[in-house]
Amino acid sequence: MRRKQLLQLKIFLMMHPYNLLELDTAAPNEPEARILIIYTGGTFGMGVDKHGSLKPFDFSEILHEIPSLRSFNLIIKVLAFEKPVDSSDINLGHWIEMGQIIEYYYDRFDGFVILHGTDTMAYSASALSFMLDNLTKPVIFTGAQLPVTAPRTDAGDNLVTAIEIASERNEGGKPVVSEVCIYFNHHLIRGNRAQKVESMHFDAFESANYPPLAKAGVEIDYSYQFIQSFGGEGVLHVANKLDGNVTFLKLFPGISENVVKSMLVSPDLKGVVLETFGSGNAPMARWFLDAVSKAVGNGLLIYNVSQCLGGKVLQGRYETSLALKDTGVISGKDITSEAAITKIMYLLGVEKRMDSIRNKLELSLKGELSE
Ligand code: ASP
Repeated sequence: MRRKQLLQLKIFLMMHPYNLLELDTAAPNEPEARILIIYTGGTFGMGVDKHGSLKPFDFSEILHEIPSLRSFNLIIKVLAFEKPVDSSDINLGHWIEMGQIIEYYYDRFDGFVILHGTDTMAYSASALSFMLDNLTKPVIFTGAQLPVTAPRTDAGDNLVTAIEIASERNEGGKPVVSEVCIYFNHHLIRGNRAQKVESMHFDAFESANYPPLAKAGVEIDYSYQFIQSFGGEGVLHVANKLDGNVTFLKLFPGISENVVKSMLVSPDLKGVVLETFGSGNAPMARWFLDAVSKAVGNGLLIYNVSQCLGGKVLQGRYETSLALKDTGVISGKDITSEAAITKIMYLLGVEKRMDSIRNKLELSLKGELSE
């Protein structure tokens, strides 16, 4: 790690004095791996008080709630955010905090499990996938639809299996997974392919355009052909700048000219994820195309992402998308909206040149789209 980076991290840690809580596992002399759980908040850790309202859970009670954690031949430590957050309150600062924690503890742990609320987990996993460059260790997000203290909770299975995946090595001693992923309801999926699709049942996440990386049943069945490593030879580098001057513009029949025009000229706006119909189609109305074309001409990045869960944007397949292509709108192919918006935030934070950003938006950086 470069000296300047180390200094920045030291200052960060001084400002955030985390206590690591070590779980009383099988107390191994030769642990199979060292795992850091980063507890950010969400339903997972919410307890219920005597009036039936949700209240944050004291993580030192975790072994009481999930006793099977004791049997792991692992060293497991927990770092809890000072104030657990409902994931609706997650912001860019939290993503940078998660990245810096991973960077600071990277050499001391073999894998990382991030406990996070489900509502915005797909955004956080996408953001981290872009921010962690040269990642060679597993970063597995998980959470729960019911608090860990609830009788029918999914928290135990999600956490236990996420830890198992984060500690899994192949015969050569290398991690089986070294991507940012989400493990939930028996499925491991690439983080930047995930979307929350369900709020009441346990199958909260889907990866419509990329197969699951593993399924957990009696055994954890890895689909090795779909697991990728995006880490190179270099050391881990964590982006610590993101640009939040971005927004979504979701199209619908009858969308008003005034709304579109005023949105596209918002001061400081630098990037728009344009949520289009079908395979990337939009209205042909002159006022709409003129507004888009003018915005692109003024340097606004407009990224075409389909409102359909599955399939992809094919600009030029229909006249209604050819017109967008001609205005300079960039095709997001089969990227999710969550990955699209965080990718723009990341690129605006790290890249200076617009042509380079436009180029990278078309390419897969961390497996987020199929080229
Ligand atoms: N509102 C919660 C959150 O996202 C929901 C959950 O964790 O499932 O923080």
